[in-house]
Amino acid sequence: MTLTETMKRFKRIDLAHLPSRLEPMPRLQERLEGPSLWIKRDDITGLSIGGNKTRKLEYLVAEALELNADCLVTLGAIQSNHVRQTAAAAARVGLECFSILEDRGVSNTSNYKYNGNYLINVLHGAHIELLHKSESGSESMSKLLESLLRNGRRPYRIPSGGSNVMGSLGYITCAMELLDQFSKEDIIPREIIVPSGSGGTQAGLLVGLRAMGCDIPVLGIGVRASQSVQELRVYDLACATANFIGYPSCVSRADVVVDDRHVGTGYGLITNTGAEAISLFAQLEAQLLDPVYTGKAAAGLIHHIHAKRYNSSDHVVFIHTGGTVGLFGYAEMLQ
Ligand SMILES: *Cc1c(COP(=O)(O)O)cnc(C)c1O
Repeated sequence: MTLTETMKRFKRIDLAHLPSRLEPMPRLQERLEGPSLWIKRDDITGLSIGGNKTRKLEYLVAEALELNADCLVTLGAIQSNHVRQTAAAAARVGLECFSILEDRGVSNTSNYKYNGNYLINVLHGAHIELLHKSESGSESMSKLLESLLRNGRRPYRIPSGGSNVMGSLGYITCAMELLDQFSKEDIIPREIIVPSGSGGTQAGLLVGLRAMGCDIPVLGIGVRASQSVQELRVYDLACATANFIGYPSCVSRADVVVDDRHVGTGYGLITNTGAEAISLFAQLEAQLLDPVYTGKAAAGLIHHIHAKRYNSSDHVVFIHTGGTVGLFGYAEMLQ
């Protein structure tokens, strides 16, 4: 059975505008005097402006509907792109959405608290529980689920970032899409660069590529944890996902590589190199990155180009996982 046939066994609903484009970045490439640069536009996957969670939600929400759930329940930071896309997916299929937003002490500006992703959650009609700094997300989640069940509801719980086996399937499909695009462009990239947060994006991409016998390296740029913690998180999820689709051990431990040097002082906190990358991409390519994920990942890409990791004949693909909406939450911090 081919991977295409294997993937057809899993229910999926249509939420994203796919395939997302693979575009060259000639002006950035010229400025950096590096390899040929490409950008995979998963920032414009269509649902409520877009982002990488939409691909995951195509599988997650399909499962929720299959299980006859009547609401989606998830959690994340105040400016979580995942929570926003989940609220949008719920609205699209007619489920209610309950979201827990954690105050991780990133910022007290009103833009951070009420603009950007937060605003869009409200517009999609999600029920939002905004936690105080001292409250724990996982405890609040247990309480919320308990109270929903007590009231006879049928909640479908989506983990933070949509990163479980089911969500990771979305990035197996993305890997298949990428290989098609590489063959159309007649390129074999030297490396694929992706932000690595809850891990489902990197894990799914790796499983998809390796299951198709493709050994293009994937470099995750960490946005929260140390290298060892993040690599293990991604590796565990990749193994579980590979088992789930019937390709056990297609991903080796050595396939999982995370660079943690661009995290800065922590999750959600802007770095100087991240802010510089945001300006560079905006001014040279009209690409809008975000401070939490793609700006830091792009800072990693720029660092590796300066450090001569690539030859000028190489092709490097940057996965733009979205986050555009989050820019508005960081308005003061970006100016
Ligand atoms: C969630 C997110 C990521 C990280 O993806 P994971 O699958 O959680 O590792 C990257 N970029 C953006 C914009 C995101 O919202």
